[in-house]
Amino acid sequence: MDQLNIDVSNRAGPATGLGQGDYAELPERFFQRADLSPVRAPRLIRLNRQLAEELGLDADFLASPEGLAVLAGNASPKNVQPLALAYAGHQFGNFVPQLGDGRALLIGEAIDRAGKRRDVQLKGSGRTRFSRGGDGRAALGPVLREYIVSEAMAALGIPTTRALAAVSTGEMVFREGAMPGAIFTRVAASHIRIGTFQYLAARGDREGLKALADYAIARHYPDAGAQENPYLALLENVVAAQARLVARWMLVGFIHGVMNTDNMSISGETIDYGPCAFMDNYHPATVFSSIDSRGRYAYANQPHIAVWNLARLAEALLPLLADNEDAAVEAAEAALKKFQALYEEAFHAGMRRKLGLLTGRPEDMALAAGLLDTMDRNEADFTLTFRSLGEDLGAAAGEGVTRALFARPAEFDDWAVRWKDRLARESEHDAERQAAMRSVNPKFIPRNHRVEAVIRAGVDRSDFSPFEELLSVLAKPFDEQPEMVAYADPPKMEERVLETFCGT
Ligand code: AMP
Ligand code: MG
Repeated sequence: MDQLNIDVSNRAGPATGLGQGDYAELPERFFQRADLSPVRAPRLIRLNRQLAEELGLDADFLASPEGLAVLAGNASPKNVQPLALAYAGHQFGNFVPQLGDGRALLIGEAIDRAGKRRDVQLKGSGRTRFSRGGDGRAALGPVLREYIVSEAMAALGIPTTRALAAVSTGEMVFREGAMPGAIFTRVAASHIRIGTFQYLAARGDREGLKALADYAIARHYPDAGAQENPYLALLENVVAAQARLVARWMLVGFIHGVMNTDNMSISGETIDYGPCAFMDNYHPATVFSSIDSRGRYAYANQPHIAVWNLARLAEALLPLLADNEDAAVEAAEAALKKFQALYEEAFHAGMRRKLGLLTGRPEDMALAAGLLDTMDRNEADFTLTFRSLGEDLGAAAGEGVTRALFARPAEFDDWAVRWKDRLARESEHDAERQAAMRSVNPKFIPRNHRVEAVIRAGVDRSDFSPFEELLSVLAKPFDEQPEMVAYADPPKMEERVLETFCGT
């Protein structure tokens, strides 16, 4: 990786603070140089000034016409060659040897205030060599959804790609009909996916695999580089990062919707928000995605799918894990086996905090399962149930606000007796416990019906004030925000959204 493949020293364009980034130093077969496909009449819908600041970028410049040209893919940053990255992936279990950035472009790398490399990518910026039959564009609706949900996840403290900007293009895209087009600017720790490794493995490209693994180690898991077997350590680190990530999803009721191996990041960030959604009522089999007819990516399946995906990463890495195949397979299996314990550790610890338990006892998970099961049978809202438990700490048996969330409140009362008994074994005062519970049980999540309403206002009326308001509520998910309490409400019967779309 010593020579730079691309000479960018005299590429014209606005000075943005972004650089080419070192992904371009990887072998040429990892990406395609891409030309821009300018759009007619870009307009800035929203710039995330706080994130721009964090990335060391000049927000005023990005909001200027020159900056807008960059965010719309009408100009590339000075000294940057935009790249479309190559990757493969299992989509709904079927291997596709070539996917790649078909509607996305890497437009540079920022070194953030903490000294970390962050990749900046446009999504919806036009066709690339990987577009196959697609138009390379994005519709406004999915762009607003990704903006809202990824920023909500960040505010919840869950590792995620971030939203830097949303721009409307002034052009239409054609999906189920004509829809306004938009471009989303995404920021990621990197865009290396499980599918990136699969792309090289499928081609028998051992040298490429090694280069990518070395790069991923240097960028995300430098400690792995010092281990006796750095590639096994890389696998173990990714297993751990994804176990913790999926546990975080489960603890807030998040359903990714398309956990294909090309949509799982090596860094452990949530990436590729498509038909994702948060559940309202707790049901483990919940699926929203219109294309997931068999429920492969249902809420409760997510940990299993994560291991399945990691097994595909392990397979791709086999040639690097040991000199002979048997030893490599044995090492890979041992690494994958660690997922379950890591996942449970993270999920159980999180569940205890959600229940206000500050110590751990063997019976705690049966207590948690008892609540979840009662919620499932009683159409109880996942988010509100946990949030209101903390408000009921001082309530007498058969009283409090939580029971009313259950179709048969007496079933909750029965469970609450067990819970109160368990709490009595701890010494904390209610006030401290309540504060702790409020800091882990969000009041506000991006509820589907709210996201849909924001999309309708933006798409049908070019009205982005509901978008702004929802974003501001979701920026403080754990705060009471009494004047915004309506945003905490689950949908009324007629507001319920049962299906979400990828919008590709
Ligand atoms: P996704 O389901 O969004 O993760 O995308 C899967 C693959 O389809 C990726 O290779 C995308 O680049 C590609 N793709 C999705 N939408 C489009 C589009 N509108 N034009 C071209 N390629 C697309
Ligand atoms: Mg994808």
